[in-house]
Amino acid sequence: MAKLYFRYGAMNCGKTALLLQSVHNYEDRGKKVLVMKPIIDTKGNNKVVSRIGLERDVDHLIDKEEKLYDYIVSHDEDISCIFVDEAQFLKRDQVDDLLHVTVTEDIPVICFGLRTDFASKGFEGSTRLLELAHSIEEMKTICRCGKKATFNARMVDGEFVFDGDQVAIDGEKQVTYDSLCPKCYFEEKEKYFNKEKSKVLLKQRKNQF
Ligand SMILES: [Zn+2]
Repeated sequence: MAKLYFRYGAMNCGKTALLLQSVHNYEDRGKKVLVMKPIIDTKGNNKVVSRIGLERDVDHLIDKEEKLYDYIVSHDEDISCIFVDEAQFLKRDQVDDLLHVTVTEDIPVICFGLRTDFASKGFEGSTRLLELAHSIEEMKTICRCGKKATFNARMVDGEFVFDGDQVAIDGEKQVTYDSLCPKCYFEEKEKYFNKEKSKVLLKQRKNQF
């Protein structure tokens, strides 16, 4: 029986590289695959792009409201495997649909994504995948201190930031992410909130005079 797989890990753990390697293995044997990703991710637009330079066009960009089961069963080609990159951005119903596909269509579905956001909260798609997937595997990467990184810290113009929206909108400022271990993450978080607190105190003091 086909399975629903969830491969999760912090940023830079090689999720997309593994996805592309797996796609290659199927295609090398003449098998047809379907590579998809949610439309919310603007990085690379209609491509899946790994940090080590590998890339491939996606076969399908998933719309926020899209009924994935209907889309997949309406495909007339014989698909051997379905790959989803940035699966954290899937909606709950879409993950349910992917499970449905594995069970009724007998097509394996392999999802790659982050478990939590920069504020250490679960993404909708990942949370549902952790609930439903037949197989869950963590991909590892290391923190700047050498320990295992499990958190995705957000940096805005090179400074750690711990409040804001779950999905950073591309603006004038440069938003990047750094994979940290819990200890380094909480150290940076404390530093950030202490800094914010002293900004507020300074403002109050200025207003007094
Ligand atoms: Zn660390």
